[in-house]
Amino acid sequence: MSGKSINLVFLGAPGAGKGTQTKRLIKNFHFTHLSTGDLLRKLIVEKHPLGIKAKSFMDEGSLVPDSLIIDMIKTQMTKKKGYVFDGFPRTLAQAEALDQITNIDKVVFLDIPQKEVIRRLTGRRICRKCGFEYHVEFLPSKKGKVCEKCGGNLYQRDDDKEGVIKKRLSVFTSLTTPLIQYYENKLLRMQAIGTVEEIYKKITEGLNLSS
Ligand code: AMP
Repeated sequence: MSGKSINLVFLGAPGAGKGTQTKRLIKNFHFTHLSTGDLLRKLIVEKHPLGIKAKSFMDEGSLVPDSLIIDMIKTQMTKKKGYVFDGFPRTLAQAEALDQITNIDKVVFLDIPQKEVIRRLTGRRICRKCGFEYHVEFLPSKKGKVCEKCGGNLYQRDDDKEGVIKKRLSVFTSLTTPLIQYYENKLLRMQAIGTVEEIYKKITEGLNLSS
């Protein structure tokens, strides 16, 4: 399979590694990355009215309303194929709306135990300037609270605090897990445990991707 001609959806609890794996995939194959979380955070930084509306939902670990997300995705899609959707769809209504816009070829479900999610997310630190993700335990910056690559300051996402993570996990269980059945025929389920490289290899092999 080649990235240009297919659409992929990445499903998984917060912290399952969707962002890490999809960013790798778009570096190596011809995909356009569409991460609703990244798009929303950009709108917040720009103080865009949609970002301002979304922020309170995000800060408390709730989902942003479907209509806002679907409109945002529509404005980003300039072609039919070649997308990696990361963190979208997250509800049945979003999945049905996406089916009206384009055809999804494969859905990768990164499966991870809840205990591991909390460990991963509470330790996550992100560079404000280049967006590189560190982890206080698994991948600390050699420069402490400053990014090794660009010198930007590292920060913790407001929604990576333990209380909010638990809320995000319960939202995932109730609203997003029904998508596993919705996409049953397209689903590639994999345990998201192991190194980033090991999981990436499983994904590309499972998808039969060749550059
Ligand atoms: P993420 O970076 O994917 O973990 O998303 C961070 C937050 O953005 C989520 O907890 C939601 O509040 C919001 N968000 C991202 N994608 C969606 C989506 N597809 N539907 C609703 N809310 C979303």
